[in-house]
Amino acid sequence: ILKSFHGFHPAPQRLCSRFLSGPGAPSWNDYVRPKEFNFASYVLDYWAQMEMEGKRGPNPALWWVNNQGDELKWSFREMTDLTRRTANVLTQTCGLQEGDYLALILPRVPEWWLVAVGCIRTGIIFMPGTTQMKAKDIVYRLQASKAKGIVTTDTLAPVVDSLASEYPGLKTKLLVSDQSCKGWLDFRSLIKSASPDHVCIKSKTLDPMAVFFTSGTSGLPKMTKHSHGLALRSFLPSCRQFLKLKTSDVFWCPSDTGWIMSMLGSLLEPWTAGSTVFVHHLSPFDPKNMIQTFFKYPITYCLAAPSVFRMILQQNSTSLRFPTLEHCCAGGEALLPEEQEQWRKQTGILLYQAYGQSETGVTCGIFRGMKIKPGSMGKAIPPFDIQIIDDKGNILPPDTEGILGIRIKPVKPLGLFMCYENDPVKTEEVECGDFYNTGDRATVDTDGYFFFLGRADDIINASGYRIGPSEVENALAEHPAVAESAVVSSPDPIRGEVVKAFIVLTPKFLSHDRDQLTKELQQHVKSVTAPYKYPRKVEFVPVLPKTITGKIKRSELRKKEFGQM
Ligand code: ATP
Ligand code: MG
Repeated sequence: ILKSFHGFHPAPQRLCSRFLSGPGAPSWNDYVRPKEFNFASYVLDYWAQMEMEGKRGPNPALWWVNNQGDELKWSFREMTDLTRRTANVLTQTCGLQEGDYLALILPRVPEWWLVAVGCIRTGIIFMPGTTQMKAKDIVYRLQASKAKGIVTTDTLAPVVDSLASEYPGLKTKLLVSDQSCKGWLDFRSLIKSASPDHVCIKSKTLDPMAVFFTSGTSGLPKMTKHSHGLALRSFLPSCRQFLKLKTSDVFWCPSDTGWIMSMLGSLLEPWTAGSTVFVHHLSPFDPKNMIQTFFKYPITYCLAAPSVFRMILQQNSTSLRFPTLEHCCAGGEALLPEEQEQWRKQTGILLYQAYGQSETGVTCGIFRGMKIKPGSMGKAIPPFDIQIIDDKGNILPPDTEGILGIRIKPVKPLGLFMCYENDPVKTEEVECGDFYNTGDRATVDTDGYFFFLGRADDIINASGYRIGPSEVENALAEHPAVAESAVVSSPDPIRGEVVKAFIVLTPKFLSHDRDQLTKELQQHVKSVTAPYKYPRKVEFVPVLPKTITGKIKRSELRKKEFGQM
C-alpha cells in the first residue's frame, strides 16, 4: 500500500512537518508537482495502513448520523475495503471505464463517499449533483457531460427514467435504496457480494477526476472540470497550514453533496489530515437540529456557508457555547463582519473566512491562528498567486479595486480547474493576460489581506461611487429590524443608478410602520457607513431569492429592477 512518492513517505502530516523542519528537509513544497497522484491510494490506503499498524487513534474515518437515531462509523480500513468493492461494482458489474462520466446524485448518505472514492480508484469521472435538481436540471447535466452512468435514490429514479427519450446514453443506472426498482442495479446488495480486491489506477496528476457544477448564482450552472491535482492540493503544506487539522479532529461540513465545498470539506481536506468526517443526513436543513448536533457529538471543526452560521444565530438559542467546537470557517458568500462578531460573542469562537469557487477550490483564507481583519477573506493560499488586476491583466497597487485574478502563466497552479466542460469559448473568456479572471472584484491591503467587494455584475455604480452590496448589507445587519438583506442597483431617472435594499424583517418588527422603518434604516446606514451608500429605495420582502446553496441571487433582483424579467 505504501508507495514511495518522490522518494519519501506519503504521510501528509509527516511530509508537512518534515518540510517545515528547515534546512535539510526534502524538497516538498507548495509547488511540487509529481506526475502521478491518486487520493485513494496515497491518502485513504495510507491511513488504513496506519490503523493496521496501530499508529492512528480510534477516531473513525466516517461518522454518519441521521434524525432517526441511526449511526454508522467506518474506519479507514473499512473505507478502503468498501471503496475497492465499489470500484469493482463500477467497472465489472456496470462496465464503466476510466474516462467515462458518472452522475452522482445522492443526498448525504454514506454511499456518496463510497462512489466518489470508487470513481477515484478507477478513473471514472464523477459529477456530484444536488438531489434538489428537477428533471430539466438533470437532463441538462447528462447531455452536457454525455454521462454513461448515474447513481441516485428511489426518489429521483422515476425522474431519470422519464428522461430516457431525451437522453438515451445511460449505459448503467445504480440505485441506492432499500427497495428495488425495475431497470436499476441495486448498489447496496452488489457491494456486499463484490470483491474487496482492486488495484487502484495510477492516475496522472493532471488526468480528469471530477466535474463540479457552479451554484448558478448568476445564470445557468457551469461545469468545471478538475484533475486529481485538486486532491493533491489538499496535500500541500499551505493547505495543511490553512486548516491545521489533527487526526483527532471531527470535521463537519454540512454543505450539500452537490458542491465542491462538500468534496473539499467532507472528503479531501479532513481525510488528507487523517481526521474524522462527520456527516449529518439533516434533511431538510434545520438550524435547530444543527445546534443540537453541536451539543450531542464531539465536533471540533465546522466549515459552512455564512448563511448557515447566520441561521444558527437567528435561533435565539439560550446557549451557543458548544462543548467541543474549536474552529469555524465560513466560505462561499460574503461573511458580514457584524455576523462574524455576533458569532464570537455568542459562541466564544472566532469565525474565520475563506474564499473559493467551483473553478478554483479554496483560494484564499484566514489561516488558523492568523489575525482576523473584519470583512477580509484572508491571504492567498499557495500555490495560487492572487493579484488584483485590471481588465487587461495588469497588476494594480494595494487598496485599489480591481478583478481578483489568479496567475495561470507560465504555469497553471495545481488545484485550478482544467476547463469548462465542452465549452472552450467560455474557458478562453475567463483568461485575462497571465491571469484567470474570477469575475469577482476586490482589493488587497499592504499586508496581503483580500477584501471582497462583489461579483463584477453586483457592484453598484451610484453617482460615480462604486458600492459593493455587502458593505450596505453589513450596515443594515447591525440594525435589530433586519434579519437579512440584499442590496442591488436600481434604475433612477436622474442619478442613473441608485442603491436599493430588499429587506427581510425580524419577527419583532413585522408590525412596525414601514415608512417609518424605511427612514430609520436609511438613517442608520448613513450613521454607520459613508452616507452615499445609504439605500434610497427600500422594499420589505418575506424572503430573498436564493440558490440551492443558500446564496442570494442578487442578479435576479437586479434584473427585475431593470425590467428584464
Ligand atoms: P455561478 O458561477 O454559476 O453564477 P457561483 O459563482 O455562486 O455561481 P460557486 O462556484 O459555487 O458558484 O461560488 C463561487 C463564488 O462565490 C465566488 O466567485 C464569489 O462570488 C462567491 N464567494 C465565495 N466565497 C466568498 C467569500 N468568502 N466572500 C464573498 N464571496 C464569496
Ligand atoms: Mg461563479
